[in-house]
Amino acid sequence: MSPSDNQLIVSGDPSSEYNVEFRTLEDDAWYSARAVLERGQALRIKFLNFDDNHDSVFEADGFKSLTELEVFRSRFRPASQQLQDHECRSIVREMTVCACYWYSKEDVRFYDAIVDAVQENEHSFHEGEEVCLCTFSLYWLHGPRVGTFHNSVVADVCKIQPLSDLDPVVALFLNMARERIEVTPPNSLSNSKGDVLFLEYFLKSYLPLCRKLAVPGGLSANHLHLKLDSKKIVELIDRRQEDRDLGGMKTQYMILIGNMDKMLSPRRIEEFLGRQTSLPPTVYIFPSLSSEIFTRGAICLDCERDFQELCIFLDNPHHIITSSTGRPWVIIEKLVGLENIKESIGTLMPLSKNQNTLQKESSGKCNDLRIAYSGTEEFKVASKLRGLFMEFSAHQERLHKRLAFEEGMASI
Ligand SMILES: [Zn+2]
Repeated sequence: MSPSDNQLIVSGDPSSEYNVEFRTLEDDAWYSARAVLERGQALRIKFLNFDDNHDSVFEADGFKSLTELEVFRSRFRPASQQLQDHECRSIVREMTVCACYWYSKEDVRFYDAIVDAVQENEHSFHEGEEVCLCTFSLYWLHGPRVGTFHNSVVADVCKIQPLSDLDPVVALFLNMARERIEVTPPNSLSNSKGDVLFLEYFLKSYLPLCRKLAVPGGLSANHLHLKLDSKKIVELIDRRQEDRDLGGMKTQYMILIGNMDKMLSPRRIEEFLGRQTSLPPTVYIFPSLSSEIFTRGAICLDCERDFQELCIFLDNPHHIITSSTGRPWVIIEKLVGLENIKESIGTLMPLSKNQNTLQKESSGKCNDLRIAYSGTEEFKVASKLRGLFMEFSAHQERLHKRLAFEEGMASI
């Protein structure tokens, strides 16, 4: 698949029907796709340059929560546009672009990246056509080199289009799925087949890509680095169901966040992270004292790859996550293998499923989250506030040590 095959959309070209980009679960790469509604209850995703056998089909009743649906929604967006040579000045620092990563001469895939720097060079002209010779230093947000820098040229960069133009078929399907979630009592969904169906559909969404591509001279499954076969998928689904039957997903990775706004709700955080990263974390907010002006939260994931991806998002030096009041998040600790801590977290009520919280949110009284990008005034303020919190936190840690020391002395 070449960059022009996959991404470039030209008016009048048959590929212009493929006006959606879909980010597959398997490789987190974006593919040009077309969305078709089937039987009034299913969404079929057809991939550009792949035959019908590679389609992915999702059922409207395959989602167990609004958060899960939000994560699914974040995997769609309008088709990105190939950057033209004369447009290179429109690419600036901190901008998120979709860029291609070459696995080999024949295997190219598209991942999101942040522009870290632009090395502007004088353009040349070839047969009257302007040729951009600039270099774009990118910071990968996904893909095999996530969290690293990469130098790209204009031909490797695509501009992400505004989300407001989301494909109407996808929007219609999301509405249908949302209505089905809202009419189904929450309790009947846990431990139900809906949860399994969601995983099954996601697995199905990339299973077809295991097969040989339909394009002439297409790539074999090996090029796609896929190892899953149908037997393994059945095992995965069974295991997921067993986990549910035992009372919940196993949590093995946790990130503790300090300086959270007390008005934030777990559901809002899950939705925000789902939107920004397409990850499905479970979020807990710890109780806080009335004298405290902030609280702590835990973001839990059960997959190492997801955990690493979330760490990269949270550690990104180019932005700071803040609540809408401007209070910046501070990562306190990252924990892996939480057998002991899991038990204590397990005693906290999963507020994200709490109806009172949902009602409170729907009444619009809840806080929200935003991203402050470096170079902005908001980032400067967030950075200063984060420094103050870290200073306070270090001071508090010294006080804890002092108390432990004095307690030790008093008991001698
Ligand atoms: Zn240029």
